[in-house]
Amino acid sequence: MIGGTDETHDPSLISWVEGATDHLDFPIQNLPFGIFSVGDSTPRPGVAIGDHILDLTRVASLLPAAAANVMGGQTLNALLALPCDDRRALRHRLSELLSDGRHRDQVEPALNAAAECTLHLPCAIGDYTDFYVGIHHANNIGRQFRPDNPLLPNYKWVPIGYHGRASSVRQSGVPVLRPNGQHKAPDSDSPAFGPSQRLDYELELGVWVGQGNPLGTAIPIREAERHVAGFCLLNDWSARDLQAWEYQPLGPFLAKSFQSTISPWVVTAEALAPFRAAQSARQEGDPHPLPYLWDERDQQHGELAIDLEVHLVTQIMRDSALPPYRLSHGLATNMYWTVAQMVAHHTSNGCNLRPGDLLGTGTISAPTEDGFGSLMEITRGGTQPIELPTGEKRSFLDDGDEIILSATARAEGFRSIGFGACRAVVLPALGAP
Ligand code: MN
Repeated sequence: MIGGTDETHDPSLISWVEGATDHLDFPIQNLPFGIFSVGDSTPRPGVAIGDHILDLTRVASLLPAAAANVMGGQTLNALLALPCDDRRALRHRLSELLSDGRHRDQVEPALNAAAECTLHLPCAIGDYTDFYVGIHHANNIGRQFRPDNPLLPNYKWVPIGYHGRASSVRQSGVPVLRPNGQHKAPDSDSPAFGPSQRLDYELELGVWVGQGNPLGTAIPIREAERHVAGFCLLNDWSARDLQAWEYQPLGPFLAKSFQSTISPWVVTAEALAPFRAAQSARQEGDPHPLPYLWDERDQQHGELAIDLEVHLVTQIMRDSALPPYRLSHGLATNMYWTVAQMVAHHTSNGCNLRPGDLLGTGTISAPTEDGFGSLMEITRGGTQPIELPTGEKRSFLDDGDEIILSATARAEGFRSIGFGACRAVVLPALGAP
């Protein structure tokens, strides 16, 4: 059964790889896939285990044939395109190879110290779609524009989304250039062009599409889960001043497309099986979703029990070796629509998804202030700056600021697993003085 747990999730399972057992992100219960290189080597598929990366090309002969056949490329698209059952068989085999000491002699030479590896984008991302399912975020942002009526009438009927820019998605560690663009001050008659003055981040989960669907077909919601291969963290950098001026009538454009940052490990749907929870009940008075968006099984376990955190490091904090400052912490369960509902809705018009496509959930905010997923919300549109331990103030991000997203999936009776880092430093805009 999809979504079920098995012996690969057993919390007592330990790996012979040193340091893996108590690893916060990558114990043997996780086994996320990524693309890595060592020195000048060709990027290749690997799996994270503790502080090491197992080179899957070097153990291909030990893997199930279906998986071994897709280890040749420099992306994970072919791996993500495998049927779930093949991906699950690969997970089982890797769990066995990395826990059973009898395989150690054969497998250990294929391990690389993660610190000596470079991680790359895991997929050639054909398309990137960003949703808006974080209802508290939608409420908080809506309230700034429409205090009496924050949510637009479609919100509880339609998983709102827009087509993002795939070409500018970058992996953790790649700095982000502050974008230039048009912005218009409220008291000004005309816009000016220059570096964004209101650069923000957005805390999101990314969803990796597995098997796609042919153009002209829809993925029924009961099958949607079969098309989700895994998850990552996603920072949907947003220039709020550009956004405010450009977004009507067609939605986000240059305020978002300059860059998005993802965590480079694909945490598989299988690894997250123990962390599934029932979707929170809709508030009384909310409409019942239309039939194509409703599935009882999805309602039973469509939510993900993942703790999310955002930290900030300023240049001064970095120079003084101060610890990152936590901007927020909250739960990924604060989503009004499930991932399956997003997939079913996306394809309901016959739009084809392809392996390696990326879906963003939209900013995930908690109902309380300590869990707001963007500065736009934390500082109330920039009107209430936060004060950092250094005495510095922030309404929006300064050059030199680094945003770090992190995530840990937790459930009683299971070992917690993490997503690895999703971080990037803001660099000055091109042409800025
Ligand atoms: Mn977004």
